[in-house]
Amino acid sequence: MKRLRYVLPLTIHRAVSTEAKRHLKLFTPGPLSTTDSVKRRMMVDVGSRDEIGFLQVVRDVRQRLVVASQATPETHDAVLVQGAGTHAVESVLGSVIGKSDRVLILNNGSYGERQKQVCRILNLPFDSIDYPDNQAVRAEDLVDRLRTDSSITHVSMIHLETTAGVINPLSPVCDALSEFPHVHLILDSMSAFGAYEVDLGGRHSACKYLISSANKNMQGVPGFSFCVYERKALEALSGRRPRSLALDLYQQAKGLSDGGQFRFTAPTHAILAFQQAIMEWEAEGGWLGRSERYKANYEAIKRGIERLGLRFYVDEACRGYIISAICEPSHPKWSSHLLYDYLFERGFVIYPGKTSENTFRIGNIGNIHPEDCAELVLNIEMGIKHMGLQIPVQ
Ligand SMILES: *Cc1c(COP(=O)(O)O)cnc(C)c1O
Repeated sequence: MKRLRYVLPLTIHRAVSTEAKRHLKLFTPGPLSTTDSVKRRMMVDVGSRDEIGFLQVVRDVRQRLVVASQATPETHDAVLVQGAGTHAVESVLGSVIGKSDRVLILNNGSYGERQKQVCRILNLPFDSIDYPDNQAVRAEDLVDRLRTDSSITHVSMIHLETTAGVINPLSPVCDALSEFPHVHLILDSMSAFGAYEVDLGGRHSACKYLISSANKNMQGVPGFSFCVYERKALEALSGRRPRSLALDLYQQAKGLSDGGQFRFTAPTHAILAFQQAIMEWEAEGGWLGRSERYKANYEAIKRGIERLGLRFYVDEACRGYIISAICEPSHPKWSSHLLYDYLFERGFVIYPGKTSENTFRIGNIGNIHPEDCAELVLNIEMGIKHMGLQIPVQ
């Protein structure tokens, strides 16, 4: 043990200096490649009670998130939650679904399954409509269920199911909910917000809780997630017995809106980086501008994938432009592991699939541009040839 204490720092030092020289491009659903300016914004230490250096930044970021959701500060506010995206999802479900409520989860992938798991662990009354992971949920099914089942008080949906990259029909679902004004929508917009339109003040007003995180389309670094909520809906939770101390959404929101402070250690650097990230998002033209670049990225990957003879797992009709699940060819020489390693050595990171059919995934969000995508495709092509396969793959 004693020797290890002297050896370890040296090894770590060496690993860090090689790391710094390496410029990996992350084609993953987050964490993702961020701009140098976002990373540089973290090169300062601030105290969590520092009014100018930090508290003003938190207020600014919360306001910008409300505006980014097309809502107004009079009716809506944003709460930041320390941790990964799942922390905010669990915080919202656990705080919003009361003993006499019932949430209907529209489930078409592993993030819907995760919500069911949260409900089981927290003992929340829930039900689900389940779909295969390569299909979108259907507003018609929701209407059918709500017309026959009056026990449902909340609907929870994943905006873009990152498992396979399926975009779910947010507007039709919100339109359908106008017939059931007592039913509130909870939206996990983790991998859609910032690159798909959300209009909480208008067409999507049925959505009372919109959840996303710093390290997806807004291109911040990991460390916190957030929820843009309707004030009236959250205020109705006042006095409710919390199921969790750390994940109590009501108290977390109150802490931020009353004194402007976090209840527990604040992710200071991640929030500084996020302020820079959201300003860069605004400068790029908001969700519309960012969606144009992401679409161009996706198109570059699509052209390449089709040229290589590979197949998408999801039909074009419900395929999003954030992440693509590509079917693994059944050729005996195919090895996804070989492909990951081959790409990694050349500075590209892609992800294994999580779908019911074997797939691998290519994300195209983050500080990634069409030329990076074209370069990735060329390297995939070389990787496939390296396996001993011919192009197009049969
Ligand atoms: C990324 C993501 C999450 C959160 O994942 P974490 O690993 O907890 O950050 C939740 N839902 C969707 C749809 C996501 O893409």
